[in-house]
Amino acid sequence: MRIGAHISISKGYEHAVKEALSIGANTMQFFSRNPRGSAAKALDFVDIKNAEELCKKQDFGPLVAHAPYTLNLASSREKAREFALMVLKDDIERLEQAKVPYMVIHPGSHLGDGIEQGTEKIASGLKHIMTGREKMMILLETMAGAGSEVGYTFEQLYDIMDRTGMPEKFGVCIDTCHLLGAGYDVIGRLDEVLSEFDRILGLSRIKAIHLNDSKFPLGSRKDRHANLGEGELGSEAIKNIITHPALKDKPFLLETPGGIENYKKEIDMLKSMTD
Ligand SMILES: [Zn+2]
Repeated sequence: MRIGAHISISKGYEHAVKEALSIGANTMQFFSRNPRGSAAKALDFVDIKNAEELCKKQDFGPLVAHAPYTLNLASSREKAREFALMVLKDDIERLEQAKVPYMVIHPGSHLGDGIEQGTEKIASGLKHIMTGREKMMILLETMAGAGSEVGYTFEQLYDIMDRTGMPEKFGVCIDTCHLLGAGYDVIGRLDEVLSEFDRILGLSRIKAIHLNDSKFPLGSRKDRHANLGEGELGSEAIKNIITHPALKDKPFLLETPGGIENYKKEIDMLKSMTD
């Protein structure tokens, strides 16, 4: 089983991998830069090489980057959209050099323009900043549908990928809290939800899973993560998700509240569920 959490790389990649290993993780997620999107640090290739060797030795991975969540490719404010494009393009280039295979992005929020215009802006933006020759894959995250978020249905994610003209460069990161918020009943109808995903997007597109419990119930359209077993999903649904044949070999990444100590506790709990 691949299980990890969101870890800070402020002290470098190698330090972060060591920290993840110390809590029993064998994969991790990290922000591609400061989550508010400010200037990125220069790449340290010695650190990257050391981290790479450590990953190999410990059978650790994949490394999953997450773009700053404030970026909005669907923004109707031209400056905000241009900033998002510039940051993402730079992050893709830096992560390519660091040989990070995946970057998760939130598709964007249409701010009142509607799903159709939002979808078009996101897809054309991605098309603009990607060459199609990248080794890395962009993972579109399933959103809860809060505010004017685009990408809270499988059809919307399909449309974005399709309209870029290079759908093979894209995968999906499902978030269990967001799926519930968006109205996908992963508690009572997990098989049906996954069949629907398979029909529209294909299960092989799932490259990572954000494993979070939810403070709000099915269909709430809210995105508030809870600790595993303490939210609306509950322990039984979580166990069903991590042991489901279609999901059990994918990397699970915790984004639950409480920091590193809590991650360790939850990783231990997940391991005991699969024993
Ligand atoms: Zn996210």
